Amino acid sequence: MKYVWGFDEASTDPELIGDRGRSLTEMTALGLRVPPGCSISAVACRRFLQTGDLPGDTWDQVVTHLERVAASHARPPLLAVRSSPSVPMPGVMGTVLYVGVTDDSYHQLVEWGSEEFAADVRRRFLQGFAGTVRRVPRHRIESVVAEVCQTRGVEDPSGLDAAGLIIAGDAMAALIVEESQRPIPATLEEQAREAVEAVFESWDRRPAREYRRRRGILDDLGTAAVAHLMVLGNAPGGSGTGVAFSRDPVDGHPMPGGVYIDGASRPKSQLLYPGIADLAKADHESHHNLTAALETLEQARREVVRVEFVRERGELWLVEARRAEQAPQGAVRSAVDMVDEGLLTKAEAMLRIDPEQLDGMLHPHLAPHHLPSPLATGAAASPGAAAGELVFDAAAAVEAASAGRSVILVTREALPEDVAGVRVAAGLLATHGGGTSHGVLVARGLGTPAVAGTANVTINPELKQMSISGHSFGAGDTITIDGSTGTVYSGSLDIEPPVRSPALDRLLEWADDVRRLEVWANADTPEDAIGARNAGAEGIGLARTEYMFAGDRLAVVQQILLGADSSERAAALASLEELQIGDFERLLEAMDGMPVVVRLLDPPLHEFLPDRLDVEHDLKLRRDQGLPTEDLERLEISLGSHEESNPMLGLRGVRLAVVIPEIYRVQVLAALEAVRRRLDAGGDPRLELMIPLVGLPEELFLVRDMIEEEVHYAGRLLEVAIGTMIELPRTALVAGDIALGSDFFSFGTNDLTQTTLGMSRDDAEEAFLRGYLEQGILVSNPFRTIDPDGVGRLIEIAIEEGLRVNPGLDIGVCGEHGGDPASIEFFHRAGVDYVSCGPPRIPIARLAAAQAALRYPPPIVPDPAE
Ligand code: PEP
Ligand code: MG
Repeated sequence: MKYVWGFDEASTDPELIGDRGRSLTEMTALGLRVPPGCSISAVACRRFLQTGDLPGDTWDQVVTHLERVAASHARPPLLAVRSSPSVPMPGVMGTVLYVGVTDDSYHQLVEWGSEEFAADVRRRFLQGFAGTVRRVPRHRIESVVAEVCQTRGVEDPSGLDAAGLIIAGDAMAALIVEESQRPIPATLEEQAREAVEAVFESWDRRPAREYRRRRGILDDLGTAAVAHLMVLGNAPGGSGTGVAFSRDPVDGHPMPGGVYIDGASRPKSQLLYPGIADLAKADHESHHNLTAALETLEQARREVVRVEFVRERGELWLVEARRAEQAPQGAVRSAVDMVDEGLLTKAEAMLRIDPEQLDGMLHPHLAPHHLPSPLATGAAASPGAAAGELVFDAAAAVEAASAGRSVILVTREALPEDVAGVRVAAGLLATHGGGTSHGVLVARGLGTPAVAGTANVTINPELKQMSISGHSFGAGDTITIDGSTGTVYSGSLDIEPPVRSPALDRLLEWADDVRRLEVWANADTPEDAIGARNAGAEGIGLARTEYMFAGDRLAVVQQILLGADSSERAAALASLEELQIGDFERLLEAMDGMPVVVRLLDPPLHEFLPDRLDVEHDLKLRRDQGLPTEDLERLEISLGSHEESNPMLGLRGVRLAVVIPEIYRVQVLAALEAVRRRLDAGGDPRLELMIPLVGLPEELFLVRDMIEEEVHYAGRLLEVAIGTMIELPRTALVAGDIALGSDFFSFGTNDLTQTTLGMSRDDAEEAFLRGYLEQGILVSNPFRTIDPDGVGRLIEIAIEEGLRVNPGLDIGVCGEHGGDPASIEFFHRAGVDYVSCGPPRIPIARLAAAQAALRYPPPIVPDPAE
């Protein structure tokens, strides 16, 4: 059986020879200068890992190729032996370089190069062989190297002269024999065999296994390996090494570039684009060959390529080519340019871009260089980076911001009373909660970067102190947060602004042409609505009315909920109506001609009522000071009677309207009046009213009847769609009955996930979800990406049942999953009509919806006339 392919043999199944083997074979076929060598298949690896031996005559096949390699070059051959998995796994697989240093070849290398060069090659070989092949512990290797350097009076091996390098090599050879109790093989062939087996074994080592688990790569694939002539960028006289790209990987500028380091053996990690100009100065021909090779490869692969190259004594060799990793704006610009150049179709360009990557260009982000270690990590709750001085409450945030200072608001959880602070803060750090906690959703809607649920951060708002793993911070101290990664840093880090990209605008226009799903926005204020509209939103899928009562207006909701007598409540309801007319009118005006789904009040009581402990504290203070306490006592009693053990399952949503019917009636009257005023002003208001947390059809019918009554008495033909949220498993299961009273369904997937999995959206992420993800019990966070088998199944059932009863039903999603690419693909396939997400995610949702439509086009229905 054939297990080994030369790079010059017809290319074969990439699964067998892996990504590196495939690219070396491809480059050879394109006539590019590649060191000769061969690929050893992943099948051989799998058999080796099962039996401990290479199968059949694998090694004889390798030896045939090695003989050809040896004959191909004037100097003594050295080999590079590397892994070649079918999916690249950078940094976690074994590599053995300079294979083939023997007594004979050493002397020849001295003659070909110099004593110092040969001694350095030998030391490098032995050091790599010790670690990767013979598994000598790293600290033993490092201490041997350090000892030699110390006795020779140099800092590291690069300072050693020939004599020092020989001593270092001898010490390493002795260490290998001592640790492994075996001699070092005396021939290239034997060394190469051990190296290939070590590369195969590295597939099963812990770093590789963990890498695969994190990325969902199957364990039983195994890796191929390549063994090829090692060309030497550290050879004396006209040698060097570098990395080059066919286009700028950061901004996509269509010009080849990269970095070239003269005389070094490895490219350095920093990218000095377009540093290969140095190569042009030193060696015009090599530079010309390199840029021609980049163009050939880019045309052949139709992607931006990254190559590693080596110049050995004036001759250029390509040793690796792969798809370049690009910054978001680079990826977008190059994909769009490639369509203009005829290299890609629009569909291919759209499918090239990971929608999630757009986040990196739409928001301020940390400058990528020299990032310190984060002090704390939590949920990446709202994207973007922000730096500022710490404030511990909304009032301090407003005061500092109005004095022009940048602030980070730190709270336990962002409650409605904090919203005024969230609005003006540069960033929010909520030590409690998860990515779908209500407070965090406000930050996301406003585009304010936020990190939530940071387990090791404690705050004391009264003392205005925050402590993170032993570091203490007070009001005015500066921190930086990155809401895209959920990290918190001390001090003020460099932040780069969002990137304006005409290429992205074009890509999104193409996306709009192909997507079937409409993209709406979750927005509660006219400013957010205008921002959403500018970002391409086609409607408002969720205006949370309770957030219109944040800050100063909170007292109105509290009076309605706690009003001791009917006159207090009636007064509060009257101000509610007045305030809401203006709110709705402005929202309808901002979205003129587009649907606006107003959700009737859904205030989980613990978020909207004062904290009982605070009230008790104030009461005690007043008593101590001999001040009157009746009001506070009344409040305390009232709060006690409203206290719930599970507020998220308590008196929320439509249940509130059953208990206090006037609340929804007043909101409906306000909404209808706003429509009337917009009509009088010549506008085109498209109001839809949505009822939250319905579980029983009767709850819905009750509210629907009330709304229809008010529409009827409005004395003028007003068209208002009435729909329900689907947020409870029961609602999904009885969706047929619910559809009898609904013009539309909107899946509230935040609550539907919470109630289906029985996991609190406020606590689960911090308490245990991270552990579940790390242990692979869950492959993704169900509050971010829809759980397809549980929550997703309920959605499918609800859509099927709903459409059976009411074929005209409109179907939307307004939970946070509406902005998540993988969930969007699910919704597309499930037959949802629109997704609604926070304004910052609209471009992501537009692209994701297009990708879903390209991957899952509608079935072609034969035309009966044909
Ligand atoms: C939901 O539950 O998904 C939803 C949109 O409502 P809220 O987040 O306001 O509870
Ligand atoms: Mg909800």
